[in-house]
Amino acid sequence: MKEVIKRHAEQIFANHSSVIGIEISNVMSHHDRMRNELCIVLLCLDESKLPYGESPLPENLDGYPCDIRKEFVKFGHCVGCQTLNIGCSIGIPLVKLAGSVGFFVKSNDSTQGNFKSGFLTAAHVAIGPCDELYEHKSLLSKNPLAHKSHEIVHPSYADNAANAVIGKVIESFFGNYGINETGIDAAFIQTNQRNLGEEIHLPDEKNLLFNGSMLVKKRGRTTGDTIGKLVNKDMPLCVRVHGRIYEFKNCFGVKQINKEPFFEKGDSGSGVYLIDEKDGSLKPVGIAFAFFCSETAVCKIREIVEAFNVSVYEYEEPMDTS
Ligand SMILES: [Zn+2]
Repeated sequence: MKEVIKRHAEQIFANHSSVIGIEISNVMSHHDRMRNELCIVLLCLDESKLPYGESPLPENLDGYPCDIRKEFVKFGHCVGCQTLNIGCSIGIPLVKLAGSVGFFVKSNDSTQGNFKSGFLTAAHVAIGPCDELYEHKSLLSKNPLAHKSHEIVHPSYADNAANAVIGKVIESFFGNYGINETGIDAAFIQTNQRNLGEEIHLPDEKNLLFNGSMLVKKRGRTTGDTIGKLVNKDMPLCVRVHGRIYEFKNCFGVKQINKEPFFEKGDSGSGVYLIDEKDGSLKPVGIAFAFFCSETAVCKIREIVEAFNVSVYEYEEPMDTS
């Protein structure tokens, strides 16, 4: 396959000014859907704008499919971001610590017919006194911290001084939850955003394999879209937050599969999805919140939705009303 690339590289660079890199990958990511397939990746600056006079990019080279990927030029996080999306930068007002928007959720409990909706992220990027939350060993709604207001800004103050409040934390847990003592670092932020699509059902935990054969994807504020493999089903870990050490049990562990790290600072709270082998569809497995011994710790989404009594929903692009 390297030979194929060598043979065509010069010609591709000469004929397609938008291509900035060519590489081999074993994951094809077409239209945000992933599947395991050996392919040639064409890294482009922006494939939607075809430079004048140039022919379209090849769909395959010597029989190998081409995967055209856009390389975003990074100017910063959430620059000009109008609506909240998966992977957006969020944080606590006036605190220079960024987290990521994980999953969009809606409460299963109604208050006078209204179901509260918003998104999930990690507790330690959403709640200032998370040490107190850890001490109380209870849900935010069931301890004295609930009487304080926990506002959330988008983009995070680390990324934008505008400090625009977009919602507040209405439920959270930080520690080991329930009789199974499952590590949870999660917060439910209520927002005014109403563009939720279909409910997404969670994969059956019985069907998850931890031998490295199952691929997962996450989208976070710092590293963007990355792919890793599930390797641990009950990972214990210690994390340091604001100088204090916290112990978590029973988390999923994810390892990176290529040189790019799966998770970095600022990605806390991002949603990790299992990539379906057959159709490439994405199913929520958990929230990435820490990095420990070369593995990313992911707290289990099933325990979180049960603890918070919420369901996960798809994001729907807002209708263009202009
Ligand atoms: Zn944003």
